[in-house]
Amino acid sequence: MTDGDSQAEHGDGAAGDSGDGAEGDGENGADASVDGGAAGSGATGHAEGETAAPDGGAREPSTPAPDEAFAALGNETRMGVLRTLGEADEPLSFSELHDRSEMRDSGQFNYHLDKLVGHFVRKTGDGYALARPGRRVVEAVLSGAVTDAPELSRTRVDDACEYCGAPIEIRWRDGGIEVFCSECAGTYGDNYRPQLREEGVPEGFLGRLSIPPAGLQGRTASEALRAAWTWGNLEMLAMSAGICPRCSAPVEHDPLVCEDHDAEEGLCPSCRRRHAVAVGVFCTNCIFDTAGPASLAVVAHTDLIDLETDHDLNPVAPRSIRGINRVHEHYEETVRSTDPFEARFTFAVGDDGLAMTVDDDLRVVETDRTDADR
Ligand SMILES: [Zn+2]
Ligand SMILES: [Zn+2]
Ligand SMILES: [Zn+2]
Repeated sequence: MTDGDSQAEHGDGAAGDSGDGAEGDGENGADASVDGGAAGSGATGHAEGETAAPDGGAREPSTPAPDEAFAALGNETRMGVLRTLGEADEPLSFSELHDRSEMRDSGQFNYHLDKLVGHFVRKTGDGYALARPGRRVVEAVLSGAVTDAPELSRTRVDDACEYCGAPIEIRWRDGGIEVFCSECAGTYGDNYRPQLREEGVPEGFLGRLSIPPAGLQGRTASEALRAAWTWGNLEMLAMSAGICPRCSAPVEHDPLVCEDHDAEEGLCPSCRRRHAVAVGVFCTNCIFDTAGPASLAVVAHTDLIDLETDHDLNPVAPRSIRGINRVHEHYEETVRSTDPFEARFTFAVGDDGLAMTVDDDLRVVETDRTDADR
């Protein structure tokens, strides 16, 4: 799985999540990169007339600076207004909104409502309704990402470790599902939140998949794991396509090469990975960054998706996350040149293979499909 968070889990990628872990990845381990090309630019079509202020410049008059926007939310009455409007099917009048608020003083209530109008709340002829930024706030709150911590202690699920075939186990922790092999060292062995070792860290760490607490609602452990894969894999695919999963700006990919790599016994003592080449991904606009296996850079490539779907492996909503993870994680690597960097990764499903040559931005420059029956 991934390592960090997102990606890792799925695919496995990288190792640990950001802070903790293994390679200090930024946020998710899992995420990886891809070649960024496409991303940038073009995207100017904002929906619904919102203003974009790509470089911080031209904001519309009604768009507050970020600190003002967050300050406007730091109040129970105002958050209550946003939730009430989020649950409403139609615009609400002042008195309807006030009736649903805890605050009785209408002058005070009006003061707070006024702080939201313009950016988070639209005032129309029919009443008050959420503006798009207000919807985003309510969605974030309802995802539980900010406030709730679900309970899921280590539980066996119906999927098997791709290294040894033993059943895997998952548990919830800190905004994500952590995956472990019940028998072998997994992808990362005990390289798991090293600063927390005194807690008696289990071995067999296979990666971590981020998912908001809401993702565990109404799902069995196995279903939650698959949901987390899809949730995180969409981020990986975005990164692979050069798009920041948080802000949509272009991301860049850097090869991270272990100089003293020795993975004869599984994990390299130096980089704690199986492969010598990993990828670092960072956003050119926001603070998002992460690291993971080099496959993160190429998962959105058509030829790799072809190889997978030719073998009934669905990279977006797989039946077995370990099955698709095996493809993303168990590839061969050859560093052909270090300056400039060029490497070749060979992915395989059964007897069919796909070699992908990447440049120093982890951009795919050549592919070669080698099938057993071709
Ligand atoms: Zn195992
Ligand atoms: Zn190494
Ligand atoms: Zn970003």
